[in-house]
Amino acid sequence: MRPEDPRVDEDTGDAWGLALLAGDRTGRRIARDDRRAAVRAALAAGIRAALCCRAAHETADPVRIAAQAGVDVIWSTDSPALGSMVRIAEYAPRPATIRVFMESVRAIQSAACALPVPEIYVAHELFHHLEATALRPVSDLARVTLARLGPWTWRSGVHALSEIAAHAFAQGLLDLPCFPGALDRLARAALGTGDVPSAGTRGR
Ligand SMILES: [Zn+2]
Repeated sequence: MRPEDPRVDEDTGDAWGLALLAGDRTGRRIARDDRRAAVRAALAAGIRAALCCRAAHETADPVRIAAQAGVDVIWSTDSPALGSMVRIAEYAPRPATIRVFMESVRAIQSAACALPVPEIYVAHELFHHLEATALRPVSDLARVTLARLGPWTWRSGVHALSEIAAHAFAQGLLDLPCFPGALDRLARAALGTGDVPSAGTRGR
């Protein structure tokens, strides 16, 4: 799918992605003029992966896809609070596990009752699994310089781009009527004032 695909243009992924980059320590290092293209590329990568995944697994159900891919899905009743963060879901590669924090999901669901919130976050984390196992990491769509010292230069990908793509993947897989990035804030609003890591991931 091309970055200018209308399914990308119609949603608010552009605005959400640009705001994420602007507020992200590494994302801010992408030149301002280059950020929109980076966001578009990340959105397109997520939607493209969703379409491929749906075709390969012959289902749009992320829980079934996770089972087929050997990824455990744990519906955790643990407290989502971790320091100042409110976790929603997270992916761990070894063993491949998606952990969904039900307290966060219930809080989001009560504010966004028309959307399949648990499936959205399983799909989001499923994208991180695909990145870890099969796809070129979307974070590498942009490389930024972190520091220079004499002849040495430290460069890095931009993790925020992976978060944008993971939300786009969930939107594409589940055919959502809107970009799901804004849901992250609902957990914070309901459960406290702590930071919500983008899409609730940790260790990615
Ligand atoms: Zn994520």
